[in-house]
Amino acid sequence: MHSTIAVSANTQSFIDREEQFGAHNYHPLPVVLKRGEGVFMWDVDDKCYYDFLSGYSAVNQGHCHPKIVKALIEQAQQLTLTSRAFHNNLLGEYEEYITRYFGYDKVLPMNTGVEAVETAIKLARRWGYTVKGIEENKAMIIVCAHNFHGRTSTVISFSTDPSSYTKFGPYMPGFKVIPYNDLEALQEALEDKNVCGFLVEPIQGEAGVVVPDEGYLTTAKQYCEAANVLFIGDEIQTGLCRTGKMLACDHENVRPDILILGKALSGGTIPVSAVLADDEIMMTIKPGEHGSTYGGNPLACAVAMASLQVLKDENMAENAERLGKLLRDELKALNSPYISLVRGKGLLNAIVIKHSNPEAAWDLCMEMKENGLLAKPTHGDKIRLAPPLVITEEQIHECVSIIEKSLKVLG
Ligand code: PLP
Repeated sequence: MHSTIAVSANTQSFIDREEQFGAHNYHPLPVVLKRGEGVFMWDVDDKCYYDFLSGYSAVNQGHCHPKIVKALIEQAQQLTLTSRAFHNNLLGEYEEYITRYFGYDKVLPMNTGVEAVETAIKLARRWGYTVKGIEENKAMIIVCAHNFHGRTSTVISFSTDPSSYTKFGPYMPGFKVIPYNDLEALQEALEDKNVCGFLVEPIQGEAGVVVPDEGYLTTAKQYCEAANVLFIGDEIQTGLCRTGKMLACDHENVRPDILILGKALSGGTIPVSAVLADDEIMMTIKPGEHGSTYGGNPLACAVAMASLQVLKDENMAENAERLGKLLRDELKALNSPYISLVRGKGLLNAIVIKHSNPEAAWDLCMEMKENGLLAKPTHGDKIRLAPPLVITEEQIHECVSIIEKSLKVLG
C-alpha cells in the first residue's frame, strides 16, 4: 500500500482532471506544480520545493533560466518554424556553434531524445551498409541490458524491462543485448562481422544511476575501433554537465563516433535533440532520406545555443562535480540503516533503499515532498537525486537535512 498523505482539495481537483481526461501512462507523485525558478518549484497551493529530478536532467540549467527564456521569447517573436523545405537564418549558425562546441564535422537536429536515438540507429545501419560493407538487412547493433533509450517501437524492441515492451510486439530485429559493464561479453559480441554499432549509456540513468567500472568506456571504445564498429554514446541524460564534465564520456576521454544529445539542450523549454558525427558517417544519409518537420527550427536553434552557452558561462560542470561529491559524502555520513547504497557521478546520483516494506522508496518520496523536496523512485527501491546544476553548497546541506528528517518515516 502506498502511504496516504492527504493532499489539498485544490491539488486533488487538478489530479482528478488529469485522471479523467488523460491517458494513464504515468504514475506521478501527487503534487501539482505551477512555477519554477532555479532549483525551486512551487505547487498550486504556493508551497515551495527543491527539485531533485530536474525533469530527468532536462533542466540542468535551472528552471526558467533567464538567458534561455530570453532567447526563447525573442526568437518566438521573429520566426519559429519554416520546415526544412526552406533554409532559415539560424540553422547554419547553430550547426556551426554545436559542431565546434563538441568537435564533430556535422550535426543532425531532431526534437525528442528518442528521435535522436532512432536517427543514430539509422545512421549506424546506413554506415554499416555503405562504408563497412555489411550485406543488406543484416546489420546488428549491440545494446546493454537494463538500457533506457526511449519509447518508440524500435527502441522498446531492445529494452529488457517488461513494462516497456510487453504486448507491444512484434519487435524490430537487428539488436543484440549484452550485460552492461561486461567487456568480455562486448568482445564476444563484436566477433559478429555484421555488427555496425554499440549503443551505450555512459551511466545508466533510468536503471537507477548505474556507474560502470572505471576504464569500461575506454576499453569498450578500443574494442569497437578494433572491430570497425561505431561507438554510439547516448548522452541524453548524462551529457551537458550533469555528471561533472560536459559529457560523461569525457571522464574517460572517450569520443563517441556518434553522440546523441537531448533534454538539457533546451534547458527544459522545448524538445530539442541532436546527433553529432563526422562526415564519413553523417554524409551517408542523402536529401529526403531522413528528417523531421520541427528538426532544426529557428526557435530550437536559438534556445539550444543559449542553453549550451549558459552551461559554459556558469561553470556548471565544475559545480556538478564539486557539489555532487559533497552530496554523496553527506548522504553516506547519515549512516542510515535504510540506505544500502549511495552512488553516482557529479549531480546524477541515486540512493538504494533497504526496507522490509517494498513501498518504502515511494513512502520516503512522499515524506520528502511533505518536507519540501521532490524526487521520484525508479524500479521500486531506487531514488534518483539530481537537482539542477545551479544548486549551491548551502542548499545541498539543507536538502540533506530534509532527506535525513524524512528518513524517520521509515523507522
Ligand atoms: N536516452 C536516454 C539515456 C534517456 O534517459 C531518455 C529519457 O529519459 C531518452 C533516451 C529518451 O528521451 P525522450 O524522453 O526525450 O524521448
